[in-house]
Amino acid sequence: MNMRTVYVNGTYLPENEATISIFDRGFLMADGVYEVTSVLDGKLIDFAGHAKRLERSLGELDMPHPECLPDLLDIHRELVRLNGIEEGMIYLQITRGAPGDRDFVFPDPETCTPTVVLFTQNKPGLANSPAAKTGIKVISVADQRWARRDIKTVQLLYPSMGKMMAKAAGVDDAWMVEDGMVTEGTSNNAYIVKGNTIITRHLGNEILHGITRAAVLRFAREAQMQVEERSFSIAEAQEADEAFITSASQFVMPVVEVDGKAVGAGTPGPVAARLREIYLEESRKAAV
Ligand code: PLP
Repeated sequence: MNMRTVYVNGTYLPENEATISIFDRGFLMADGVYEVTSVLDGKLIDFAGHAKRLERSLGELDMPHPECLPDLLDIHRELVRLNGIEEGMIYLQITRGAPGDRDFVFPDPETCTPTVVLFTQNKPGLANSPAAKTGIKVISVADQRWARRDIKTVQLLYPSMGKMMAKAAGVDDAWMVEDGMVTEGTSNNAYIVKGNTIITRHLGNEILHGITRAAVLRFAREAQMQVEERSFSIAEAQEADEAFITSASQFVMPVVEVDGKAVGAGTPGPVAARLREIYLEESRKAAV
C-alpha cells in the first residue's frame, strides 16, 4: 500500500510519522469511539448519519467533544483529496485522550483533550464486490459482548474473535445469538426475508443502530416492501427465503448459508439484490 496521509489532532502527516501517546485511554482502556464512512465516486456516503451517531456515542460516554468536531466533514474531504480515494472508507476514532498516566477515573476534561485520528482505506471496486454475486456464509456464535452495543466503541475484541471462529469454520462471518435470538453480525446488522417481509432486530442497547440499516429500511418502505423490526432465531433464518447483512462498507450483502444450512435456494435472493441496487443508487445521489 502506498504511504497514506493521515490526520492526527489537527495535523495531516504521512502515516509513518503519526504518533499517539502510550498513555492514550483508547490504547489502555478502549476508551474511544469510532465511525467508518464509505467513499464512492470520491464522495462520502451518509456522512450526516455517521456524524450524528458519533455525537451520540460521545454523549453516552460523557466524552468531551473535540474542538475539530464541526470541521469533520472538511477533514474527511481533505483526506479523500490528499489520498486520491475514489472508492474506499474513512476510519475516524476519538478517544478520551492521554492524561499522562493510567487511572480508571476519567481525566479532567480541562487538562486532557480528546485524541482524534482519521485515516483512509483505499478499496477500488468496493461497490462491485464479487461477494455480492455469490453471497456469504455465516455461523452462529454466542454474543459475549458488553451490554451497550448501541455505542460504537473501539472494544472490538469479541467481534474480532467471532470473525476468527467464522474463519476457523471455513465461512465468512458470524451472527451473534443472545437468549436464542440473533442480535447482529460481528460488524453488520442481520436480516431475513420471508415472503414480501423484511425482518430485522428492533433497535435497543443490544445492537448498533446501523446507519446503513436506517437507510435500507427507509428505501424498503418507500418501495412498498413490508418491514418488521423484531428479533428472529437461527432456526427461523434457516427457514427464511433470503438473508442478508448491511454495513457502511458492505452495503447490502446476501447471506446464503447459516450454520451449514442453505437459506432459500442457497443463492442471493431478489430482495437483497434489489435493496443493494436501490441503496447504492440513492446513496451515490445523496453523497457529499
Ligand atoms: N453492527 C455492528 C456491531 C457494527 O460494527 C456495524 C458496523 O461497523 C454495524 C452493525 C453496521 O453499522 P453501519 O451500517 O452504520 O456501518
